[in-house]
Amino acid sequence: MQSSNLEPQIIARGREFFSSISGESVSLFNKARWTGKVMDWCMKNEGFKVQLFRFVDVLPSLTTGKLLTSHIREYFGGEGDDVPAVLKWGAKSAGIAGMLGASVINATIRYQIQDMAKQFIVGENTKTAVKNLAKLRKDGFAFVVDVLGEATVNDEEAERYVATYLELLDELQDERTKWTDLGGGNNGLDWGHAPRVNVAVKPTGAYPLPEPQNFEGAVEGIKARLARVYEKVIAAEGFLCIDMESYKYKDITLEVYRRLRSDPKFRHYPHLAIVLQAYLRDTDKDLDDLLKWARENQLPISIRLVKGAYWDYETVLAKQRGWEIPVWTQKPETDAAFERQTCKILENHDICHFACASHNIRSIAVVMEAARALNVPEERYEFQVLYGMAEPVRKGLQNVARRIRLYCPYGELVPGMAYLVRRLLENTANESFLRQSFAEEHEITQLLEDPRKTLERTRKEEEPAPAHQPAEQIGPISPIRPIRLIEPFRNEPAADFTRKEVRDAFPRAIAEVRKQTGRTYPLFIGGKDVATPETLPSVNPANPDEVIGRICQAGKQEVGDAIAAARKAFPAWRDTPSAQRAEYLLKAAAILRRRIYELSAWQILEVGKQWDQAYADVAEAIDFLEYYAREMIRRAEPRRCGSSPGEVNLYFYEPKGIAGVIAPWNFPLAISCGMAGAAIVTGNPVVFKPSGFSSVIGYHLVEAFREAGLPAGVFNYIPGRGGVIGDFLVDHPDISLIAFTGSVETGCRIIERAAKVHPGQAGVKKIISEMGGKNAIIIDDDADLDEAVPLVLYSAFGFQGQKCSACSRLIVLDSVYDRFIERLIKTASGMKIGPAEDPRYSMGPVADRTAQKSILEYIEIGKKEGKLLYSSPVPDKGFYVPLTIIGGIKPDHRIAQEEVFGPVLAVMRAKDFDQAIEWANSTRFALTGGVFSRSPRNLERARREFRVGNLYLNRNCTGALVDRQPFGGSGMSGVGTKAGGPDYLPHFMDPRVVTENTMRRGFTPVREDDERIV
Ligand SMILES: Cc1cc2nc3c(=O)[nH]c(=O)nc-3n(C[C@H](O)[C@H](O)[C@H](O)COP(=O)(O)OP(=O)(O)OC[C@H]3O[C@@H](n4cnc5c(N)ncnc54)[C@H](O)[C@@H]3O)c2cc1C
Repeated sequence: MQSSNLEPQIIARGREFFSSISGESVSLFNKARWTGKVMDWCMKNEGFKVQLFRFVDVLPSLTTGKLLTSHIREYFGGEGDDVPAVLKWGAKSAGIAGMLGASVINATIRYQIQDMAKQFIVGENTKTAVKNLAKLRKDGFAFVVDVLGEATVNDEEAERYVATYLELLDELQDERTKWTDLGGGNNGLDWGHAPRVNVAVKPTGAYPLPEPQNFEGAVEGIKARLARVYEKVIAAEGFLCIDMESYKYKDITLEVYRRLRSDPKFRHYPHLAIVLQAYLRDTDKDLDDLLKWARENQLPISIRLVKGAYWDYETVLAKQRGWEIPVWTQKPETDAAFERQTCKILENHDICHFACASHNIRSIAVVMEAARALNVPEERYEFQVLYGMAEPVRKGLQNVARRIRLYCPYGELVPGMAYLVRRLLENTANESFLRQSFAEEHEITQLLEDPRKTLERTRKEEEPAPAHQPAEQIGPISPIRPIRLIEPFRNEPAADFTRKEVRDAFPRAIAEVRKQTGRTYPLFIGGKDVATPETLPSVNPANPDEVIGRICQAGKQEVGDAIAAARKAFPAWRDTPSAQRAEYLLKAAAILRRRIYELSAWQILEVGKQWDQAYADVAEAIDFLEYYAREMIRRAEPRRCGSSPGEVNLYFYEPKGIAGVIAPWNFPLAISCGMAGAAIVTGNPVVFKPSGFSSVIGYHLVEAFREAGLPAGVFNYIPGRGGVIGDFLVDHPDISLIAFTGSVETGCRIIERAAKVHPGQAGVKKIISEMGGKNAIIIDDDADLDEAVPLVLYSAFGFQGQKCSACSRLIVLDSVYDRFIERLIKTASGMKIGPAEDPRYSMGPVADRTAQKSILEYIEIGKKEGKLLYSSPVPDKGFYVPLTIIGGIKPDHRIAQEEVFGPVLAVMRAKDFDQAIEWANSTRFALTGGVFSRSPRNLERARREFRVGNLYLNRNCTGALVDRQPFGGSGMSGVGTKAGGPDYLPHFMDPRVVTENTMRRGFTPVREDDERIV
C-alpha cells in the first residue's frame, strides 16, 4: 500500500488534528519564558545559537563560580564583555533578586539552562523519576523510560549503566501494581494489551566503545548485558526497546536484537522492540530483512519508527571520512521514507507491532489513515512522543488516538546536557516540523503537503547542477594530461567497518597473504630483480616463528650498482615532462587501491598493525601519490617574476639528482610512498632502502612501480642492514638528496655525515629528515572527558604507540586529574592485547625483540621516576610489552624527555593551563600536540603558544591526512618539511630563474602581464 492513495483522507485528518489543538503552544518556544526567548534568539542568530549550544554542553563541567564566570565571558562576552540582554532576561523572576551584578547574571544563566534541561528529564534519580512517571500515568500517558548516562568508556561504567536499569526495574516492578490500567482496561495491561512497564536502552551504554571492526565481540558484549536487563523486564512483565544510535552501531544493534529476540530463553516473550530510523538509506532493506527474519523464525517483533536524531553528525562524519552519506539529504526524502516504512510495517501488523515516534502531524496522520485503511487492530500500534516537547501534539494525540506513550529520559543533569543539546538542535533546525508549525506558523497546507510532492517541487526549483567532469581512465602513460583533466585531490576514504563486505575482506585477505609467506624477495636494480646470497627473515612480531618473507640483503656493491642505475636513468627522467611523471604516480596509486586489502594484510602480519591502521597506511600511501602528482603538475608551469616590460624572468624547478630514500617500518607503505613518490615525480631517481622489519611491504612498492611501467633505474630497491650500507649510501658522492624518516639519532647522524663533501661530489646534499616526537596532550579543567578518555588512549596506544605522532606525555590539570585518570585507567584496563590480525585486540606486538627490550627498560626508568598507575597483562609469545601508564612524572624526567616509541604514557599533574603549556613545550621535540578544552580563550592560547608542527584541538593527535593536515615538526622532530603539504616538493628540487631581455634595438613585444605604462 502507498500513502499517496490516501492523500485526501490524510489531509483531512491532519487538518482535524491541527484544529483540535488550535491556540496551543510548545513551551520551548514560549516567548514569555526565558527558554522561549533564548530559543527565539537562537533561531534568528546562527552565531549565538552555536555559542549557546556549546555553552550548554560545557556547563556541567563548570563546577566553580570562577570557571562559570570566565566561560560566560568567553562564550558571550562581546564589546565590553557584556553578555547579551536575552541571557540576562528574567534574572529577577528566576528568583535571584538583587542587583544584576556579574555573579547574579551568571547564577541566573546556570539556573535557567538547568531548568531548561529539567524540562526534558522526568527526574534526576530513580525515586523522583518513578514518582513523576506515576503522575504522567494519572494524566493518561503511558511511558517508556530511558536512563541518561555519561558515555560509557569502560566496563565499570557499563556495569553501572546496567545496575541503574536493574534498580529502576525493581522500583517499577513494585510500583506498577499500584497503578490503574490506562484506557479503562483491568487486566494489568494498558489499553487492555500493553505492558505498563516500558523501558528503552542504549547499546553503547551497555558496552564500552563498541567498534564495528570487532563486530562479533561488540554484539556478544552488548547482548550479554542487555540480556540481564531483559530478564528483569520480563520479571516485571514489561516491555524493552533497544534504541538506535548513530549509523556506526546500526548493524551491531540489529544483530543484538535478532540474537536477543531468538535466544531460547526469551523466544516466548514478544515485548522486545527495535528502533529503525527512516532517514537512513539502508532502512527500507533493513525493514524488509527484519520482517522476513521474523516470519522465517515465527517470532513476533516490534518496531519503533523514528526519523533519526543524528542527522548533522552522520552527514559531517561521512564527509570527513570520504564515505557515502548514509542518510537522506533532503528532509522530504526522510518524511517520504517514514511514510513508506509505516505502510510496510502496518501491512505486516500480524507479525510486527508498531510504535510511531514522531511529532510531525503529517506523519502521524499518515499512520492513522494507513492503519484505518489496513484494518490494523488498535493493539498493534501506538504513538510515542518525547517528554517535555511537542505538548500540543501529545494533547492532540491523546484526544484522537489515546494510545500515547511519552519517552522519558531520567538521570543526572551532566549527561542530561548532551541530550538537551540534541533536542535543542532538532527543534531549532530550519527543517523541524515543530519549529515550522509552532514557532514560525507555516501554512497548514504546506505543513501537510505530501513529501513526494514537496520533493518534486523543490527539485524543480533547484538550479541544474554543473556538469560533472568525468575522471579520465588511467590507461597507458599518455604524453601529457593537462591538470584540468585530473579530478581535484580527495583523500582515500578510511575503511568503513560498518559495511560487512569491508569486515569480511580482512580475514579473507589475511588468509590469502598467508599462503604466500616465506617467499624470498630479491633486490630491484635498474629495472631487474637481483638476488644476493645472503637473506634475512622478516617475521610476524606476534609470532616470531612465522617467517613472512626472506629478504635478499644488499651490500655496498649492490648499493653502488643501484646508484649507478639511477645515475644512468637520471637525464631522461629529468627531461620527462612533469605531467608524464605525475601519470606514473597516478597509475601506481590505482594499483595500490586495487590491492588495498592485500597490502593491509601484509602489514597486519609483518608489522602488527590493527586492521584499521593497516588500511589507513595503504590509503595514505595512495594519498601521497595522488597528491604529489597534482602538486607537481601545479608547479611544473614556469612562473613569471616581476612584470617589467622588456624583460621576462621565469622561475621554474629542476630535480636535484639521485635521491636516497631511507624509510621506517612503522608506516611501511605510506612514508615510503610519500618520500619516494615525491622524489620520483620531481625528477629524481630513487635508491630506496626499506626498514628490515618491513622489507616485504617495501617490495610491494617495487611491484606497484613496475606494474605502473616506471622506466628502469628510476626506482631501485636495496634492502640491507643499516650498519652495512647506511653510511655508504649517505656518503656516496653521487647522492644529491636524502629523504629520511626515523629516529632523531639516525636523522642527526645522516645530517652530520651528509654535510661532508666527498671527492667527486658535485653539490651540497639536501636532507629531508622527519624524526621523533615526545608529544603531549593537555586535559583542561573543562574538557569533555567522555571524548578525551578514548581519544587519549587511541593517541597513546594505537599501533602500540609506535608512531612519531603518538601521545607519550599527558598533562592533566589538577582540578580534573583524579576523575580523568581514574576513568582513563579503567578504560585502559579493558583494552585487550594480542595479535593484530584478530580484531578483538586493540593493541598488538611491538616491532622486534630489541624494541621490546628498550621499551621495557624505559618502563623500569619510569617506575623509578614516578609511580606505575597501570600495566596490562601481555601474551607470552611474541614481542609484546605491557600498555603502561606512569603517574607522578615531572617535565625533566627521562620518561618525559626521551622518545620511547612504545605504549608508555607519562602523566603529569599541572596546577593550571599556564603550567600545562609550559610543560608541553619543555622538550627538544616539536612534532604533534593536543588540547582537550572547551575554553575558547585557552584554545586560542594553545594555537599561539603550544609550539608544535601539528596541533590538534579536541581530537586525537595522530592520523594526519595528506592535504588536510600536512605533517611534520621542527626542533629535533624534523627540519621543517611538511609531508603531504604544498611546500613539500620544492625540497626535492632546485629552483632556477631564467631572465631574458626581450628588447631588440628598442623594440619589445608587449605581454599581457606586463606592467602598464601610463
Ligand atoms: C518517542 C521517541 C523516541 C525516539 N527514539 C529515537 C531513537 O532511538 N533513535 C533516534 O535516532 N531518534 C529517536 N527519536 C528522535 C527522532 O529520530 C526524531 O529526531 C525526532 O522525533 C524528530 O522527528 P519528527 O518526525 O518528530 O520531526 P520532523 O521535524 O518532521 O523531522 C525532523 C527529522 O527529519 C530528519 N531531517 C532533518 N533534516 C533533514 C535533511 N536535510 N535531510 C533528510 N532528513 C532530515 C531528521 O531525522 C530530523 O530529526 C525518538 C523520537 C521520539 C519521539
